[in-house]
Amino acid sequence: MVSHSRFRSWIRRSVKFEKLEDVSPAFDLVINCAGIGARELVQDIDLEPHRGQVAIVPKIDNLSCAIVCDDPPLMYAIPRASDCVFGGTNELSDNLDADPTTTARIIDECTRVLKIQNPLVLAERIGLRPFRKSGVCLERDCLPDGRTVIHNYGHGGSGFTLSWGCAQKVFELAEELPGQRR
Ligand SMILES: Cc1cc2nc3c(=O)[nH]c(=O)nc-3n(C[C@H](O)[C@H](O)[C@H](O)COP(=O)(O)OP(=O)(O)OC[C@H]3O[C@@H](n4cnc5c(N)ncnc54)[C@H](O)[C@@H]3O)c2cc1C
Repeated sequence: MVSHSRFRSWIRRSVKFEKLEDVSPAFDLVINCAGIGARELVQDIDLEPHRGQVAIVPKIDNLSCAIVCDDPPLMYAIPRASDCVFGGTNELSDNLDADPTTTARIIDECTRVLKIQNPLVLAERIGLRPFRKSGVCLERDCLPDGRTVIHNYGHGGSGFTLSWGCAQKVFELAEELPGQRR
């Protein structure tokens, strides 16, 4: 069992690798979970950025569960502990800037469905779903320097949902390596 504080001491934020071989040689196993970043990192041309924009609004009275409408226009309202997420969009784009017209459209649609007045917009958030045309990449490979890499990226709009199963599969692939069995 490894304590959380020990993991924390290994986590480095704001590091951008140009290639996987740049990972310190102190690690004999590299796990590539770069999301849309894998497009450049491993030159995977199958990856597409499916941009999503949401608006964060204050908690909505009497909204105790998420409401999702996948038919166009995409609409969802997801209550959280201290606020609510209104969405959303799904378009092929790399643009990480918030678009005020899109926010207004999201608010209009959510308030229409929920039959409420326009709430205050606390924040706008943009993310790029790492969609991979040929499906999730979850496989073991070898780096030019001989180290093993396990790729785990390309989960599109389902990365949270799939994360437990994919992490388990990564763990199994790592355990199959010679000398890795515990
Ligand atoms: C608006 C929106 C709504 C969504 N709703 C849902 C939902 O309801 N359910 C669901 O299951 N999923 C949802 N998703 C999808 C989900 O967010 C993604 O599938 C998930 O975040 C992918 O996780 P990941 O760890 O593979 O990639 P990411 O979360 O993108 O993480 C990749 C990480 O790798 C780092 N990185 C990239 N390149 C490099 C590099 N060269 N060097 C070093 N680090 C690098 C990045 O900085 C980042 O920290 C949604 C996404 C969006 C945008």
